[in-house]
Amino acid sequence: TSDFSQYTLGYDIPALPGMKVEDVQTPALIVDLDAFDHNLLKMRDEVAKYGVRHRAHCKMHKSAEIAKLQMEQGHACGVCCQKASEAEALARAGITDIMVSNEVCDPYKIDRLAQLPKLGARILVCTDNLLNIAALSEAAVKHSTELEVLVELDCGGSRCGVADSSAVLELATAIIAAPNLRFAGIQSYQGAAQHAYEYADRKALLDTAITITKDAVDLLESKEIHCDIVGGGGTGSYPFEAASGVFNELQCGSYLFMDADYRRVKDKDGQLLPAFEHALFLLTSIMSTDIDGQAVCDAGLKAHSVDSGPPKVFGRLDLQSLDYSDEHGVLKDPQNTLKINDKIKLVPGHCDPTCNLHDWYVGVRGGVVETLWHVTARGKFY
Ligand code: PLP
Ligand code: MN
Repeated sequence: TSDFSQYTLGYDIPALPGMKVEDVQTPALIVDLDAFDHNLLKMRDEVAKYGVRHRAHCKMHKSAEIAKLQMEQGHACGVCCQKASEAEALARAGITDIMVSNEVCDPYKIDRLAQLPKLGARILVCTDNLLNIAALSEAAVKHSTELEVLVELDCGGSRCGVADSSAVLELATAIIAAPNLRFAGIQSYQGAAQHAYEYADRKALLDTAITITKDAVDLLESKEIHCDIVGGGGTGSYPFEAASGVFNELQCGSYLFMDADYRRVKDKDGQLLPAFEHALFLLTSIMSTDIDGQAVCDAGLKAHSVDSGPPKVFGRLDLQSLDYSDEHGVLKDPQNTLKINDKIKLVPGHCDPTCNLHDWYVGVRGGVVETLWHVTARGKFY
C-alpha cells in the first residue's frame, strides 16, 4: 500500500511489490510473511497463556513498521530498544511506549533521551548507578519531561546491573526522590541463558535469576515500593520468567524472525524449539561455479553476520555453507546443482547484527513480494 515510486529498483530498494521473488535484487533480506504472522500470533498467545505482558525487543529488527505490527496484532504493551538514538528513531516514527533496556550514560545522549517524551512517547530507561540517576533527573528537569527509570539487576548475566537487592533498594529510593523521574521497576535480563542449547542448563541459570529477582522485588515491597515492571526474558528463556510469578513483562526479540543459532536451542523433551518458524532469509544469487563441487554467492560479510556460526542453506541439505569474505560466500555443492543466477535462501546465523546491515525487508507471500518494510533505526547505535 505504500508508495515506492520515489525509489529506484536495484539502487535504492531491492524489490517492488508485485514482483516475483526470483526477480528480487540480491543480496536482500526477505521475510516469509506466513511464518512471520505465525510467530507474531504465537507469542501473543504465549503471553496471554501465562498472563504476563510482552514488550517486544526491537533492537532485533529495528523497524518501526514491524514494531507497530507487534503492538497492534501481537498485543505487545510497548517496545524495547538498546540505544538512545534507536529510541529516537522509533519515537519519531510514532511508537508511543519505548524502553531503553540499557544504561544511557553520555551527557549528550541523556539530553536527547530526555526530550523524547515531547514526541508523545512514554520513555523508560535502565540504570545501575547513582550518578546516572542524577544526570537523568537533571536532563528531565531541563526539558520539563518525565523519564521512567528501572533499576537494572545483574541476575547472572555478568553484564550491566547492580549486584544485589540492597543496591536495588538504594537506587530505587534515589529514583523516587529525584525530580522528574518515576520509578518503574526492575530490569533483570539473563543474557547468558538465552542461547544455552540444553534445557537443563537454561533452567539452572533461570532458577538462580528468578531467586535473585524475587529477593529484590520482596525487599522493595517490604519498604512499600511497588514495581510496575519486573522485566526480562528473551526467546530462549521466556517460559521460565513467564511462569515465575515474579516477572510481569517479557522482552523477546528473535522469536519473530528466528535464526540458525536459536534453532539449536532444545526444549524439555530434547526437541529443537518448536514454537517459532524461520521467517527471515538472506536471498542470494549464484555468481560463479567455475570450481568443481563449489558455488559462489553474492552475500558476504557485508550482508550477514557470522558471529554465531555460518548461515544454513534453507531446504537444501545437499548444500553446505563454507566460507565468507566481504562480498562473497562459498558454498559446497558436491553434485554441481547450482547454476549462474540461481537464487538460494540462507538462514542467518544471528538475526540482530544481520538486520542492521540492511535498509529494507522484502515481505514475500506465495512467491510474490507483498510489501517492503524500512529498517528505520539502521545504524542508530548511538
Ligand atoms: N532483553 C535484553 C536486555 C536483551 O539484550 C535482549 C537481546 O540480547 C533481549 C531482551 C531479547 O533477546 P532475544 O532476541 O534473544 O529474544
Ligand atoms: Mn541476538
